[in-house]
Amino acid sequence: MYRYDRPSSGGRYRTDSQESVSGVYTGADDTDIEPVGAGTCPLCDGTPQLTYQNGRATVECPDCESLLVRSPVPPIVVRQTDTEELPQVVSDFMLAQFQAISSGFCVQCGGRLDSTLTVDTEYDPLVPQPLLDVTSECRACGSVSHQNVGILLFDNPAVGAFLLDTDFDPLSTYFWEQTYLHPEATLLEEDPVRVELRFAASDEELELVVDADCTVLEADGQTR
Ligand SMILES: [Zn+2]
Ligand SMILES: [Zn+2]
Repeated sequence: MYRYDRPSSGGRYRTDSQESVSGVYTGADDTDIEPVGAGTCPLCDGTPQLTYQNGRATVECPDCESLLVRSPVPPIVVRQTDTEELPQVVSDFMLAQFQAISSGFCVQCGGRLDSTLTVDTEYDPLVPQPLLDVTSECRACGSVSHQNVGILLFDNPAVGAFLLDTDFDPLSTYFWEQTYLHPEATLLEEDPVRVELRFAASDEELELVVDADCTVLEADGQTR
């Protein structure tokens, strides 16, 4: 559960091995916060830390060293929010952006996005479970971002039904706390790419087979 942006070109950005650093937002360089505890890690039950640097919010778990999310957030959002409310406000902001991405819209320019499982692209995945990594490229501005495959599947009816039957609740918990974003993933075929995702939460299970474009080819949900 993460997202980062890397433009295809442009001198405002510096790209290193894993991430881009930019001053996209006016005032981002002057906005800094002390690390804030941000809920419970869905991978190890540790306490993730929210930090803010260079116009991007990052949530990482120091206990299992997992990057849970990294995404641009305007400094005005950070400056106008009290520290204790910051994780929820950042979570709400990211959720709104992810919903736009899930619908296929670039949050930078409104252009259309092409989203592909990263395992079927030239890009490197960013997280411990590489099969969950999706690369989205904007046809208009060329920006590249990465997100969790679960975000791309939000509008699938089988996923919607599964989430309704589970304790998925991004409104009262932080987005990055959701175990939904960390299903078991198995590469069934490489050419063409077919990935099986197994979600389990509460008493519900859902198995999906998706292709490289994150289109659901098979869905099988059941109550345990
Ligand atoms: Zn952890
Ligand atoms: Zn764009």
